[in-house]
Amino acid sequence: EAKRLGGQTLVNFDQALGERISERQTLIHDLKAALDTDQLSLYLQPIVEASKQSIDHYEALLRWQHPTRGMIGPDIFIPLAEETGLIHPLGNFVIKQACTLLAALPETQGLAINLSAHQLVDPALYSNITEALLEANVSPSRLTLEVTESALMQNATEAKILLERFHELGVTLALDDFGTGYSSLAYLNLFPFDTLKIDRSFVNQLGSVKDSQPIISTIILLARELDLRVTAEGVETEAQAFLLKELGCHALQGYYFGRPSPLEDLALPLTH
Ligand code: C2E
Ligand code: MG
Ligand code: MG
Ligand code: MG
Repeated sequence: EAKRLGGQTLVNFDQALGERISERQTLIHDLKAALDTDQLSLYLQPIVEASKQSIDHYEALLRWQHPTRGMIGPDIFIPLAEETGLIHPLGNFVIKQACTLLAALPETQGLAINLSAHQLVDPALYSNITEALLEANVSPSRLTLEVTESALMQNATEAKILLERFHELGVTLALDDFGTGYSSLAYLNLFPFDTLKIDRSFVNQLGSVKDSQPIISTIILLARELDLRVTAEGVETEAQAFLLKELGCHALQGYYFGRPSPLEDLALPLTH
């Protein structure tokens, strides 16, 4: 009896594993199709100037409207895209779409896109971005590229060369999710960043038992010394917004100011 039960458990385990693998295969297959059939789009979330409470620029966040599963977030499909190489066509979609959106936004507003580690070692990335900007007739100064510490560290030497080229082009460079990786701020000073984005895990620990205020203050102090701007991510309450501004953050982003939404839902000033 025990043996039979053991066998049964094994079968169930194999079955579960098999289902997970085929589930993954299905999603990868669907993601390929999504690229060709208009299921991907960029949602825009405002990033607000702390002193003026006006929109500085937007962050473009990728969304997948799956025909049967509904809306799927990037935390699910970006890792799949990275494992399969689909990140390259997907990343190019984001670059082109971002430039199209920039052409539609008022000229005073910019847009940030996220780059994955795989894109940072793609020799075609630079020309893909410059060509998309040219085609949309958009100034490089309106584009921000967001990269994470861990993406940088995977190939720091190459990433540095690439980021320096973008910096010379006039593109803004932001270090995303700061404080969650393992690099030191002194080391990061070797890269031509303009902005540090404090990870939202620090923001939501503001004022809690594990108060993150000393850490946030220290990041801001160091960033000042290194001539970097600071954006706080994940601002959800008025109290957080007030405190972060007092602490010296230059820009704020989070549900308190606006959720990511499609361009047509943004309240934009009329451009003509
Ligand atoms: P991220 O670049 O750090 O983007 C910020 C994430 O925080 C977004 O999640 C955003 O929706 C969420 N967020 C913003 N404000 C708040 C808030 O007040 N509270 C909470 N709880 N969350 C907030 P999202 O859109 O799910 O994106 C997750 C991650 O996926 C992004 O993190 C980024 O690393 C990646 N990603 C998104 N779009 C792209 C893309 O086009 N390309 C690549 N390579 N990665 C992308
Ligand atoms: Mg980001
Ligand atoms: Mg982030
Ligand atoms: Mg993140």
